[in-house]
Amino acid sequence: MRKQFAVIGLGRFGTSVAKTLTALGHEVLALDKNEHAVHDIMNDVTQAVQADAREEETLRALGVRNLDVAVVAMGDDLEANILITLMLKEMGIPYVVAKAQTAQHGKVLEKIGADKIVYPEKDMGIRLANNLIRTNIMDFIDLSLDYSIFEVIAPAKFVNQSIGTLRLGAIYKINVVAIKRGMDQILIAPGANDVIEEKDILVIVCNKKALLRLPD
Ligand code: ADP
Repeated sequence: MRKQFAVIGLGRFGTSVAKTLTALGHEVLALDKNEHAVHDIMNDVTQAVQADAREEETLRALGVRNLDVAVVAMGDDLEANILITLMLKEMGIPYVVAKAQTAQHGKVLEKIGADKIVYPEKDMGIRLANNLIRTNIMDFIDLSLDYSIFEVIAPAKFVNQSIGTLRLGAIYKINVVAIKRGMDQILIAPGANDVIEEKDILVIVCNKKALLRLPD
């Protein structure tokens, strides 16, 4: 069923929520007080409006009260975030999601009636940590903020295939720099023709985000 959403505050988080909902076929009203933020998202949502969401009259004029879900996505302006969440609930929107900065902030949002509270950074950290466990990470060394060397158990999907046919760099954005096999065998800088075997440990260099795309 097609739902109607409002996303208020078009920072990185709000923008990504608004664009994804639109791409999934829903109607999205995107609102920000900053004209650049509104201009940037104009072509990717149903309707983009420049307005200060603290003004109740503006929200009413936009018909916000008839929407199914509102996402309050501003982070830095605590007062606006809390006030707007409160107003949206008072207007009768059935489901209001609010972005919180801290646990205390989340508590306030809960008290004033937010239906769901999200902590994007904390949530992302938990997801990454879970994913690191799920993808069988044996060990890692951070090279920089974004890049690390990981030792991972070869995903089942890779077994009995050559590095060339898997196109690991192109598809998964990882570079295999060595393969550890058995107790004491190590293949340094494997080439396109080297075949990955069951229980191999791949030593890879990649952006940490690339691990999220690695199969089990
Ligand atoms: P992120 O951390 O996801 O990038 P920010 O907190 O930096 O999010 O972005 C908040 C956005 O919300 C900004 O674009 C800002 O202009 C907008 N914003 C803040 N207060 C209001 C308000 N009262 N009405 C409408 N938009 C607002």
